[in-house]
Amino acid sequence: MTIPEHFNYIGIFLTLRCNLNCSYCINNFSKLEHRREMSGKEWIDALSSIQTKSDLPISLQGGEPTIHPDFYSIVDGLPQDTPLDLLTNASFDVAEFTDKVHPARFKREAPYASIRVSYHFETMDFFTTIDKVITLLDRGYSVGIWEIDHPAHHQDVLDRQLMAKHSGIDYRLKDFLGEWGGELYGNYKYPEAINAKTKRRALCRGSELLVDPGGYIFPCHAHLYANCHPLGHISDPLIKEKIGRTYSCLSFGACNPCDIKIKFNRYQQMGHCSCKITPIPSDA
Ligand code: SF4
Ligand code: SF4
Repeated sequence: MTIPEHFNYIGIFLTLRCNLNCSYCINNFSKLEHRREMSGKEWIDALSSIQTKSDLPISLQGGEPTIHPDFYSIVDGLPQDTPLDLLTNASFDVAEFTDKVHPARFKREAPYASIRVSYHFETMDFFTTIDKVITLLDRGYSVGIWEIDHPAHHQDVLDRQLMAKHSGIDYRLKDFLGEWGGELYGNYKYPEAINAKTKRRALCRGSELLVDPGGYIFPCHAHLYANCHPLGHISDPLIKEKIGRTYSCLSFGACNPCDIKIKFNRYQQMGHCSCKITPIPSDA
């Protein structure tokens, strides 16, 4: 499968399960029905067919991707020249990880780390996380920490960032998205696309390949989490015809903030938005 030229991200949701339970989790597990998870062999077969580029890695994510029962066999079984990134809460056993995964497996030329640890103050111990990341850095892995800059904890977040930086860790902040204290946080290209009272029709052209645990490809995060209107299955030879095309959507107004926020692209240039949307007037 060839990835369209305008694509900026490949997100492989190995599982939507997680061993933590953050109250603000965007995966909203309480509302997610159980989904079938493809086996390691199915993932290896499916992902091996993706023709990507060194600057467009396949990002293994979730949920917590390392709790997929075949996580290590997937990492080991994919072609070694397939660039891989990992988004994780670092709950894995570091000794097992360093034993089974060579540092070169998650390493490439990019202005940010290939292993991106999300730190969540509610459910993770800060110093344990720092210790794990320092161990990984010492062993040669490309790893950094990202934390959501929650407005209720802004000073604590900055203090943690300072401590981590003193330890030589690349510690970056992510915008808090959504409402807090009666205010909408986040910088959105289409502010009317979220929390609307009624949904509208729109033409939408995404720039991300998003694959759910069962191997279904969705046009955006909102559809993936809601498990509605997949474009098709990753193993379907005809799916390539549907990827990257303009999609006629009836759910504009119920978009996921991740899809319509203004953010960095993979070259760390600010101003990117995952979806290019043309809302259709309701009387059209
Ligand atoms: S670690 Fe991430 S995926 Fe897991 S519950 Fe927390 S926010 Fe959700
Ligand atoms: S308009 Fe919103 S909900 Fe519809 S495909 Fe685009 S991002 Fe997803």
